[in-house]
Amino acid sequence: MSVKRAVLAGVVKDLRKHVENLRDEGVRVVETTALPKTRGAAPAAAIPAPRPVAGKSDQPRVAAVAAPVKKPALPTEPLHTTRNAGATNVAPRNIMPEAADPALAGVAAEMQRLAGEVAACRICVLHKQRTNTVPGQGNLRPQIMFIGEAPGADEDAQGLAFVGRSGQLLTQMILAMGFTREQIFIANICKCRPPDNRQPLPEEMTACLPFLRRQIAALHPTLIVALGATAVKGLLGPTEGISKLRGTWCDFEGIPVMPTYHPAYLLRNPPAKHEVWADLQAVLKRLGRTAPAWTKMNKGA
Ligand code: SF4
Repeated sequence: MSVKRAVLAGVVKDLRKHVENLRDEGVRVVETTALPKTRGAAPAAAIPAPRPVAGKSDQPRVAAVAAPVKKPALPTEPLHTTRNAGATNVAPRNIMPEAADPALAGVAAEMQRLAGEVAACRICVLHKQRTNTVPGQGNLRPQIMFIGEAPGADEDAQGLAFVGRSGQLLTQMILAMGFTREQIFIANICKCRPPDNRQPLPEEMTACLPFLRRQIAALHPTLIVALGATAVKGLLGPTEGISKLRGTWCDFEGIPVMPTYHPAYLLRNPPAKHEVWADLQAVLKRLGRTAPAWTKMNKGA
């Protein structure tokens, strides 16, 4: 074999190996640039795929490199960069931005730890009739933290805060403010449902408050919206009635607190939505955001 042929054979061998590696990675099609035909040079189509094929003389722009390999179905929206036909440069989709942020890994760990402690808690009598504990959920570095009094039946059933009718109205309030539920955090003073939806007793709120304190300390919300008289009392202690206090900035360990009516009260008294909207506009103003027009919250008002 001449030296020239030996060099060419080496190149072909390297190409074959490269193509086989691509095939193993799931690549079905490789775009190639047409090369000028060189007298004596082996054409690219001579690259065997997947088995050595000799004697081809034309060089296609797109060369099939492998027979289809049975692979598990890919997710519709790939979570990672996928090297596949027609999708060679798909950016990874980040489904957990907070968890992916190293600065928030500690917060996520604390929330996880706290949820476990709440689930095991037997400190007050509310543990006896609960179905699920409801520690709260949302963004790990929220601008706003909404705090209610305690879970109701729907929340107890699902283990999530504010998912019943009151929760739907709260969602409307959040959307009307220009936020989503994923951008804020929602929790309650008590993490277990009081029987028959009664108000939590002072001793129950006192027993549960350390969990909420830890959540607030870890989450560092820019401000808190306290929903209803019981939440205000649990958070700030004895104060004026909610009808007098609402709309007035208060303070919880250096964090501004805006007391306003509970969504359950608004379901019974829709006209009070106007007052709540005024309170939420004050919240937006404090955050330096433009308060949207009175829109989504006015249903039924
Ligand atoms: S309400 Fe709070 S303190 Fe009482 S049992 Fe549940 S988690 Fe524990």
